[in-house]
Amino acid sequence: MSTDEQEPVKTICPYCGVGCGIRVMPGEEPGDMRFMPWGEAPVNEGRICIKGGAATEVVNHEDRLTEPLMKDEHGEFQETTWEAAYEYIVSELQRIREEHGPDAMGFFGSSKTMNEENYLIQKLARRYGTNNVDNCTRMCHASTVWALRTSLGAGAMTNSMKDLRDACDVFWIQGANPGEQHPIANSVYFRQAVLDGATVIQVDPHANKTTRSFQIEDTDRHMHLQLNPGTDIPLLNVVIKTVLDNGWIDEDFIEARTEGFDHLVETLEDFDKEAAAEECGVPLEDIEKAAEVYATADAAAIFTGMGMSQHACGVDNVQNEINLALITGNLGRPGTGVNPLRGQNNVQGTCDVGAMPNVLPDYQLVDDDEARQSVEAVWGFEVPPEPGLTNVEISHEAGESIKGLYVMGENPIMSEPDGNRVAERLQQLEFMVVQDIFMTETAKYADVVLPATSWAERGGTVTNTDRHVQLMRPVGKVHEHTKHDFEILCEVGTRLFGEDGGFTFDGPEDVFEELRQVAPAYHGMTYELLGEEGIHWPCLEPGDEGDPFLYEDEFGTESGLGHIEGVRHTPPAEVPDADYPLVLTTARLEEHYNTGTMSRRSPTLNRQHPENFVDIHPNDAERYGIEDGDYVTLRSRRGEITVLAQVTEAIKEGSIWTTPHFAAASANRLTNDVLDERAKIPEYKAAAAEIAVGVEPAGDPVSADD
Ligand code: SF4
Repeated sequence: MSTDEQEPVKTICPYCGVGCGIRVMPGEEPGDMRFMPWGEAPVNEGRICIKGGAATEVVNHEDRLTEPLMKDEHGEFQETTWEAAYEYIVSELQRIREEHGPDAMGFFGSSKTMNEENYLIQKLARRYGTNNVDNCTRMCHASTVWALRTSLGAGAMTNSMKDLRDACDVFWIQGANPGEQHPIANSVYFRQAVLDGATVIQVDPHANKTTRSFQIEDTDRHMHLQLNPGTDIPLLNVVIKTVLDNGWIDEDFIEARTEGFDHLVETLEDFDKEAAAEECGVPLEDIEKAAEVYATADAAAIFTGMGMSQHACGVDNVQNEINLALITGNLGRPGTGVNPLRGQNNVQGTCDVGAMPNVLPDYQLVDDDEARQSVEAVWGFEVPPEPGLTNVEISHEAGESIKGLYVMGENPIMSEPDGNRVAERLQQLEFMVVQDIFMTETAKYADVVLPATSWAERGGTVTNTDRHVQLMRPVGKVHEHTKHDFEILCEVGTRLFGEDGGFTFDGPEDVFEELRQVAPAYHGMTYELLGEEGIHWPCLEPGDEGDPFLYEDEFGTESGLGHIEGVRHTPPAEVPDADYPLVLTTARLEEHYNTGTMSRRSPTLNRQHPENFVDIHPNDAERYGIEDGDYVTLRSRRGEITVLAQVTEAIKEGSIWTTPHFAAASANRLTNDVLDERAKIPEYKAAAAEIAVGVEPAGDPVSADD
């Protein structure tokens, strides 16, 4: 290897949506690589969290898939050739379409893969003849995207991390935990603003790293409203009613730039603030004080996370945040807005490029004839005009109307709610192909498993939580017989649809050039213009620098107005009863990532948290006779898991809190798969549960494949 080849490569961290720049130093052998900081990286300015620093640990892990695998007649995986695997996949895709029609297939894109790869899988699904394509945003922010797109125009952060740091006076953080889940956004941007004088109002049932990160001595610039799970709408209605009653609204903004204000006023006409505050479990005067701080600030921004979105009333939850921002004029200016903190490193981009059942690239609705035809003109084939099924709906239909599944880099058995049922249903499929870097819990049920390359081995673009599109650069392949997701999708598409079928591309840049033609917000970007700095969308023409904040003059809705709509409380679908007297809520840890496919294989990360645990309030622990460090079994109507008990006042009495990362005891065996009826996001954040004590731990806590 030459000296040149030993230069560190500038790329983007593969874990969360902050989009931190890192460098990877290749070693002598393929697979030798180590992390190096990138001091001038545009987002993180050289700072890095524990996950980013450990990201290279999984690239050459001994568990990597290195050869294509196909099941034999006994259901055992056997190594095979790429040629045999492709032939089988293509023949099964053709058979399913002939026997059952194109809507009998589902396609899962992945927020851990590039924009180009997700663009290709949604194009593959649509060329096949179905809109049954989705990605994990369905499980994290589908409701947020729905509410933002419908009421403001775009399903993304309205502002950028930089303008929030520079201009925001009040951070309203509801159902989000950036201290844990977006640590560099929190430390480089939000905490810095707070150190410079901004105030934080945190609304969350759980005291967490965000709570601790803002405890600024000798100031009253941090409030934590610790509400009961599932009471976000009544809490925000108390806030909005307080704002209305005190005249803290921005009348000019409401008049000139919004519609629907009267509906909000009518909805709250007879609203009982005292009763609502009691339901939330938060003193009324604390909520009123928070309302005053937010509404009287010069620039106040709302941050929203999965604590808001992952409810059967997720769209309404986010709509009420939009209501608050609109009536106080906190949109369309630096330091304001409604800002979803996106989870995975490319979940924003995966949605942007159309890997969703109801939208084409750049959120153009599939049932909008004009929009669809403009995309068809570039693609050269017709797209079905009706929205397809979401990923949870596809799982619900597996073995029924859905006969086959194409999974790129997703692990639905771990990530979807009611995981035991998901596993049962996926076994009913006639055919499933999974392309991934490890043998995931889902891949075990596949007929074909294709070994893909990891984040460090391939190039492309990713879009972070504040719409910042950046280039990832490859170090080089570790295992000879693995392939990039890009190559696999092009090969499958070309075998299915021929050389002129729209899947012959020279490389990721060639795919990006086509994406630019069908996604107006990306039209002004090229790989060359992205360079090392990247560009925020919308970037309509080459030379545009992209907008750090949206809606300065008008909203992206049809009327150009921001849409206000009053909402009423909807309790969680499952509330505590005699059999299941507790409320189970779930969230992620800083040191692990989603289904743990990568993070549980990282020695550094696994040392921090080798097994799952549950937070229990001391009063509940006393009633059950639980000591800190005991093993307990958590039960819901859907399953049970055994975890370590952590007795702590971080959680409210009557609620328990656990994580989804660990296969041996995944919270998603317990969670409820009831959906928000519009956005189809499941209600992960509230399920009725019970605890059994006096049990032994289950399995090897440190194995990633348990
Ligand atoms: S904050 Fe997110 S993007 Fe940045 S290093 Fe940590 S995991 Fe990676």
